Amino acid sequence: MKVVHEVVIVGAGIAGLATTLALNKTGIQIIVLEKAHELCATGAAIPLSPNAWGHVTNLITGATQVINFTGTINSGDIGARAVHRKVLLETLANELPENTIKFSINMSRPSPTSRNSKPTPSSPLKSKALIGCDGVHSVVAQWLGLTAPVLSNRSAIRGLAVFPSGHDFKHEVHQLVGDGIRAGFVPVNDTDVSKYSKFQLCCFFNLAASTLTHNGVVTVAGDAFHPMTPDLGQGGCTALEDAVVLARCMANSPDSMSSGMEMYVKEMRWRVAGIIT
Ligand SMILES: Cc1cc2nc3c(=O)[nH]c(=O)nc-3n(C[C@H](O)[C@H](O)[C@H](O)COP(=O)(O)OP(=O)(O)OC[C@H]3O[C@@H](n4cnc5c(N)ncnc54)[C@H](O)[C@@H]3O)c2cc1C
Repeated sequence: MKVVHEVVIVGAGIAGLATTLALNKTGIQIIVLEKAHELCATGAAIPLSPNAWGHVTNLITGATQVINFTGTINSGDIGARAVHRKVLLETLANELPENTIKFSINMSRPSPTSRNSKPTPSSPLKSKALIGCDGVHSVVAQWLGLTAPVLSNRSAIRGLAVFPSGHDFKHEVHQLVGDGIRAGFVPVNDTDVSKYSKFQLCCFFNLAASTLTHNGVVTVAGDAFHPMTPDLGQGGCTALEDAVVLARCMANSPDSMSSGMEMYVKEMRWRVAGIIT
C-alpha cells in the first residue's frame, strides 16, 4: 500500500526547508523532493534583514536614507545579518526529522495540456497537498498557470575585496545609489576567503505578475511565488516570511488545507507586491 504523505514540498532551498520546518512544528508530516543530489549550498553570504533594514546613500545628493521594510519606524538596533547560505540551509535541514528530504528526485515538468493533472515526480507519490518551493523556474508555478518571469534587463557584478590588515567597517549592510547604478558592500570578518565566490555576474528577474497562486491544495512559496530582483536583498527574507505565514494559516485552518493556503496567498501576495514596489 502506498504511504500517503500529508504534504509534498518540491525544492530544498530556503523556501522549501523553512516551510517544511514551520509546517512540521504544526504537526503536519512532510516529504521534500529535491532534484539535486545534496543541498544546493553554493554562493556566499546572504544578508538577511529583520525584515528588513539598511542604509542607502545617494551619491549625487549625499543624502542617506534608512530603508525599513517592516512598516514600523522603530527597528531598534537590529541590523541586517550576513549569513553564509550553506550554514542557513544546513541549520534548517538539521532541524528536520530524518529522511524528510529525498534527493535526486526531479518533479517532472507538466506538459501544456496537463493543467488538469498535478505535476508528478518520476515515481508516483500520494499526498494531500503540494507546495512548490522549486525556485524561479518552478514547475508547480507553471502548473498553476503563473506567468513566466521576465528578464528585467538589469545585471550585477559581485566581487570580493580582501583587506589583509583587517578593516574598520561596522557589521552593517551599505548601499550606494546614483546615476543609474546601485552598489553596496557587506563587511565580514572572515579569514577563509576561499569559500566566497570571488566574481559573479547575475541576471535579475522581475516579479511574475499573476493572480492564481493557489489552486485547491496546491500552492507555491519563495521564488516560485514571487521571483524578485536580487538587488532588493529580499528573496531569501520573504521566502522565510512565506514559511511562517503559510504555517500559521494552515495551523489556523486545521480542517481545510485549501482554506489555509488561500489565506496565506491573500496575505503574502500584497506583502511581496509592496516590498517589490
Ligand atoms: C546573487 C544573488 C544575491 C541575493 N541576495 C539576497 C539577499 O541579500 N537577501 C535575500 O533575502 N535574498 C537574496 N537573494 C535571493 C535569494 O537567494 C532567493 O530569493 C532565495 O534563495 C530563493 O529561495 P527558494 O527556496 O525560493 O528558491 P531556490 O533557492 O532556487 O531553491 C529551489 C530548490 O528547488 C529545487 N528544484 C527546482 N526545480 C525542481 C524540480 N523540478 N524538482 C525537484 N527540485 C527542484 C532546486 O534544486 C533548489 O534546491 C539573492 C539571490 C541572488 C541570485
